[in-house]
Order: sequence, then C-alpha cells, then structure tokens
Amino acid sequence: MKREIAEIIARAQEGKAPTYEEVMELLALDEASPEATAVRGAANDLVRAKTGNAAVLLGQIGVDVYPCEADCQFCSFGKSHTCFTEHVTMPIDEVVKRAKDFTKGGDLYALYLMTMHSFDKQYFLDCVRAVRAAIPASTRLASNIGDTDREYFEQLKAAGLNAIYHVKRLGEGELTKISPDRREATIRAAHEAGLSIQDCCEPIGAETPNEAIATRLFEIQARGREMGLHDCAGVMKRNSVPGTRYEGLANEITDMRLALIGAIETFVMVDQDDFPWMAVHEPNTVSLMSGANTIWAETGFNPRDTAEDTSAGRGLDVPAVRQMFYQAGFRTLVRGDGSRVDLTPEYMEAKLSE
Ligand code: SF4
Repeated sequence: MKREIAEIIARAQEGKAPTYEEVMELLALDEASPEATAVRGAANDLVRAKTGNAAVLLGQIGVDVYPCEADCQFCSFGKSHTCFTEHVTMPIDEVVKRAKDFTKGGDLYALYLMTMHSFDKQYFLDCVRAVRAAIPASTRLASNIGDTDREYFEQLKAAGLNAIYHVKRLGEGELTKISPDRREATIRAAHEAGLSIQDCCEPIGAETPNEAIATRLFEIQARGREMGLHDCAGVMKRNSVPGTRYEGLANEITDMRLALIGAIETFVMVDQDDFPWMAVHEPNTVSLMSGANTIWAETGFNPRDTAEDTSAGRGLDVPAVRQMFYQAGFRTLVRGDGSRVDLTPEYMEAKLSE
C-alpha cells in the first residue's frame, strides 16, 4: 500500500475530504490494485457507519419520447442518431398506474418522472398532480425534465413535487446542444423555488479525462455546501447505446472503475453537514460494496436504452433492486419521510409475492 494513499484514506475516515490533487491521485489508481480496494472498502465502511447500513430505493418513469433537439451524443433519444421517430406521450392514467405499481410495496424513497428536453408543461404539471395524489406520502416526488424557470418550478412544487434531478453533464455544450450556463440557471431556479437539488457525475465514459471527473466531483461538493444535496449525490457511467457514437464496449468504463469513482466521491462529500445518499447508475453490486447505497428501478422510456419500455430492457424493477440491496448486506431501507424498514429474511420473502 502506497503511504500517500493510506494517508488520504485515514483522513477521510477522520471526516476530512481530499484535495483536488489527492483526488487526481485516487482517480489514477488501477481499479484492481490493493490501493483501489482499500479506497472502496473505506468508502463502504464510511457510508454504512454514517447511515446505519441503510439503502435508498428510487424509481423513474420516462413519460415521453421523441427525437430530442438537445441531441446529446450519449443518449438514445438524440435527434441525429435516434431510432425513435414518433412523438409518444404516455397517457396520464398510464403514468398513474405505473406510479402506483412502483409504490405499492411502500418502500420507494422517491419517484422520478422524466421527459425529453422540451416537454408539454401543462401535461407534466397534470402528471405531477395526479401522481402525487396516487402515491404514498412517504414517497418523495422528483422531476427529471428539460430546462425551465422558477415560476414553473413553483407551480410544480405547489402540485406536490419535492425535488429535481438536473445536472451539468460531462461535456455539456460540446456533446450536447445545451450550454452549461442554461443548466446552471435551471438548477438555481429550482433551488430558489424551494425544491431539493440532486447532483451526479455523469455520464462517465472510457475517454473521460480524470481532470473532468475531479472537477465535477468538486462542483458537486460545492453544490452540497451551498444548497445541500438532501436526496442524493451520485456517479453514472455512460453505457454504449447502439446507434450513438459511443457504441461498443471499449467506450464504457467497467463497474469496478465506476465503483472506485463513487468511492472517491464519498471521500469528497465526507464532511457535508447533510451527508447525501450516495447513488450509482446503472445498478451494480461492486458499487454497493464501495460506498454506494442508492439505486434506481426504471420503467417507460430510458435514454440509455433503445427499448420502448426499459423495464423489459436495461431497467430493473423494484423487487430486483430490493434483492440487490439485501444481497449486498444492507439491512434497512429508508423511505422518503425518513421512516425505516428492516430488510429481514422474513420481509424479503413476504415481498417476493407482491
Ligand atoms: S439526455 Fe435528455 S436532453 Fe439529452 S438528448 Fe437525451 S432526452 Fe434529450
């Protein structure tokens, strides 16, 4: 074990975040090295100790799809390469049906409703109102929508929205047609409207420079210090969506590499007052053993999938995510209202028949 890596780990265990230079050292580790294993193990211990070995289960419904003018080069919906040609919007009663299905077990911390970059504001507002009325109060409601303004976020909040997922993606403005400033303005508008903010280092590809990852991790740290990241901070890898310029496994990082980056993010966030739930996407067990304790189940349209309903493709359902947590040794699920349920063998068996 290299002495300088052992010292970074020891400081994180004392609640002190690494410097930018130290993060660059950690990102340069071979993910199969003893040093990387030690970083992942320390992050795992830190998160389980801070949270009482608890996990958080999230769900997302993609409610519409069309060739999206934001044309993100990594997304299956980008208009220059998508295989989707129609504009399809899920009827609100179907959204509500899926929302009820997601939340019927009562264990969902938060449900996300996702649109393309441009979306019908009245339709989405109606969706939020209808879904809020249909799901348990213990499940938070979040949006994953295109850029908008404070006034609209205030309407969404009044309709029952709690949080937004909106991030400056890696390569924003170069791999996408949206400027980083526009993304930032939307995040600030939501914060000013009183909504909870989430952040994520994404989408990480095989060619993403360590400098870009480190810079994003410290932006997330700064976001947490300024706004709080009550719901989650996370990492997400870019998967090789067929038809995009990143098709092919050589363009993807491995789950081991993703787990290491997530562990480093845990160190970066270690001194936050409101320590966030640490998310990883897509779900994988090695990340759950490396500091991540939050994953998504998905249904409907999914930017990482070419299937019209991702629950039949890449997306996991709620029982599958619950199983992943149980098998990874988590013994508690936390709901959106802070209540907890123990993941005992009896509970797991009872949920199998849901
Ligand atoms: S990631 Fe979002 S904004 Fe970008 S092309 Fe896909 S749906 Fe549109």
